[in-house]
Amino acid sequence: MKRTLFIVLSLVCPFISFTQKRNTKQYHQSIQTAMDSAYHKYKSDQRGNNADYIPALANVPSDLFGIVIVTVDGKVFSIGDVDYNLSIQSISKVFTLALVIESRGEKIIRDSIGVNPTGQVFNSIYPIEQHQGKGINPFVNPGAIATTSLVQGENQDEIFNKVISNMEGFAGTELNVIPEIYESEANNNQRNQAISMLLHSYDRIYNDPIEITDTYTKQCAVGVSTHNLGVMAATIANGGYNPITKNQVVSPKTSSHVMSVMTMAGLYNNAGNWLYLVGMPAKSGVGGAIISVLPGKFGIAAFSPKLDSYGNSIRAQLAIFDIISTLQDHPYLVEPVK
Ligand code: GLU
Repeated sequence: MKRTLFIVLSLVCPFISFTQKRNTKQYHQSIQTAMDSAYHKYKSDQRGNNADYIPALANVPSDLFGIVIVTVDGKVFSIGDVDYNLSIQSISKVFTLALVIESRGEKIIRDSIGVNPTGQVFNSIYPIEQHQGKGINPFVNPGAIATTSLVQGENQDEIFNKVISNMEGFAGTELNVIPEIYESEANNNQRNQAISMLLHSYDRIYNDPIEITDTYTKQCAVGVSTHNLGVMAATIANGGYNPITKNQVVSPKTSSHVMSVMTMAGLYNNAGNWLYLVGMPAKSGVGGAIISVLPGKFGIAAFSPKLDSYGNSIRAQLAIFDIISTLQDHPYLVEPVK
């Protein structure tokens, strides 16, 4: 009996793995085709404007456009300007949140910051006043500065080193601050400093408010390519395991909490429309990039500097939506069991 089973399995198994391989190959081909088509469809879309409240962002060439997909088994697909060194901006909030959850447990985020979406623009002070510094969400500026203030270290250098080393783990490569972006924002930082001081008045900032705002500003000025962002997104999609370096950067549980916050508040106060259409956890930054993840399958990053009125890159949103629709990969789209 056992012997018959063994013979049957050894006859069938190569066939199964051949079929799987063929399906994987077809799926990979369809990823590249979907990406190429979205890229050409939206490359000449001229709508939107570069962010300019950080003066240096206004100088980033508006025509840049790149898309990268990295699968959880480490295959990389790309098209366009995927090597341009852009500033990570708000996408950094994803990784600092992961760092704090990983090192201090998820409860500290619920207790000290809150995770409900605020429904307000990213640099609004209303949620602070409304909730007395509670319920400010790690992906809008008040909650993000407070999240950075939860990173432990003897001084700001040590804290920043932890923040950037953690991002490097996700990217699988060395990263550096873009000095012009950092200086440009640091010289125009009154609003974030005010946010931090207001949080301080409610005892909801956990380090020196002005110094930690500066560390947060450096965190936002870290340079990444769209390729780096694709790997970072794939690491989240793959339960915190970097599919390129083969390192476990954070635990699967940490990744799951991070994806939940991305689902609720990734695209500023347009996150609801995004989720309705695309269904995937995502995070955008005013530098023009968006990352999004299909849990257990792949991470996608798209970059183009012109933003809509919410602060989300227009081409990046269109491209990701188009690709996911073509691949029929909306996570809530299921084949009915009949
Ligand atoms: N550094 C930016 C700020 O704090 C990040 C904003 C963003 O990308 O949403 O205003």
